[in-house]
Amino acid sequence: MAEFTMELNDEQKEVRDWLHGFAADVIRPAAAEWDEREETPWPVIQEAAKVGIYSLDFYAQQYFDPTGLGIPMAMEELFWGDAGIALSIVGTGLAAVGVLANGTEEQIGTWIPQMYGDANDVKVAAFCSSEPDAGSDVASMRTRAVYDEAKDEWVLNGTKTWATNGGIANVHVVVAVVDPELGSKGHASFIVPPGTPGLSQGQKFKKHGIRASHTAEVVLDNVRVPGSCLLGGKQKLDERLARARERAKAGGERVKNAAMATFEASRPAVGAMAVGTARAAYEVALDYAKTREQFGRPIIDNQGVAFQLADMRTQIDAARLLVWRASWMAVNGKPFTAAEGSMSKLYASETAKKVTAQAVQILGGNGYTREYPVERMHRDSAIYTIFEGTSEIQRLVIARTLAGMPIR
Ligand SMILES: Cc1cc2nc3c(=O)[nH]c(=O)nc-3n(C[C@H](O)[C@H](O)[C@H](O)COP(=O)(O)OP(=O)(O)OC[C@H]3O[C@@H](n4cnc5c(N)ncnc54)[C@H](O)[C@@H]3O)c2cc1C
Repeated sequence: MAEFTMELNDEQKEVRDWLHGFAADVIRPAAAEWDEREETPWPVIQEAAKVGIYSLDFYAQQYFDPTGLGIPMAMEELFWGDAGIALSIVGTGLAAVGVLANGTEEQIGTWIPQMYGDANDVKVAAFCSSEPDAGSDVASMRTRAVYDEAKDEWVLNGTKTWATNGGIANVHVVVAVVDPELGSKGHASFIVPPGTPGLSQGQKFKKHGIRASHTAEVVLDNVRVPGSCLLGGKQKLDERLARARERAKAGGERVKNAAMATFEASRPAVGAMAVGTARAAYEVALDYAKTREQFGRPIIDNQGVAFQLADMRTQIDAARLLVWRASWMAVNGKPFTAAEGSMSKLYASETAKKVTAQAVQILGGNGYTREYPVERMHRDSAIYTIFEGTSEIQRLVIARTLAGMPIR
């Protein structure tokens, strides 16, 4: 087990500073333009690919950092630059993790490189789980995958929504129902290879924030994929379904808890994104408060402003500590007995919303305009309490975990 420390090691500091440089020099200057354009910032992704930030190698290196701090540190720095662009850069990682977690070695080797492309021809990937009637309530998913044994193909039908990179991805990872009797335990994930007939982009959403990240519906109309596209393979699926049926008969408790552990391990990464946005807004507000003069003195000389900044910084640091604790627990296999992963995502996302609103207030009229970045950061921050489980769902998970009740 890696020893706990409050300090990043030299290698981590080096990576953090390198990422910060990219966020400051490449991402932040491009943020306002791509927010207005509401398009995927391909040139920035290309730049990230050239320097090695947009790559499986980089993502895997951070993912397997034995202290657990690699991913939260990377997320905080990139999202400090800009949330919309950073999500365009890390969105592929969400689909890649889906394959890493469930795929065979062959599937990992075949599909993940196609998700990223290369520096001369960058590609993105999408992870499609949410549906119009299955958001928080994942178990009510309707997209069906039916096995055509004669052809060894799976046939997918349904509509996915809110998919980051949906429709523009080279590779889509689609979660679908294979056994409707088993609720979320009857789901399986499929690769939909590039150019597969029947997959199309539905509505592209015009959003409140993170507008440089593409979010769209994905329509699956008799999409046929080879049997080899079922993540983990047919034998593993059949065994898993058989176990789930047995456990469902016995009450289902252990199955639900296994799925929960996965979420607890992934949620701190979203918390770290929120910390990045909150820190960015706080820094702008602090600089502004020190230089803006009213009544013959900098506005930070007023306790009403100074105390807000003190609270903002305290809450950001507290959020980061919760994120780091949960990430450390995940990598060291500690049981999440108080839903510490959900706690970190809940606190960090709520902090980002609050801190960015305070930053707008501290900048006064300027804070309300697109001349200053806090307006965009405030809009961007609203996503953190919604995706990867809303704040209400985090509270539900924490409360049920504390009460020793099953998570539905
Ligand atoms: C920009 C963006 C990007 C996204 N990217 C992806 C992606 O790449 N892939 C993907 O699969 N999904 C993605 N999502 C989907 C996201 O995870 C869902 O929006 C989220 O899970 C909430 O689902 P919903 O929108 O259907 O809201 P609902 O589940 O309908 O919730 C509506 C409200 O009801 C509350 N609520 C629901 N149930 C309860 C309850 N039991 N107790 C208390 N309150 C409750 C919620 O907290 C919320 O406030 C994305 C969403 C957005 C907006």
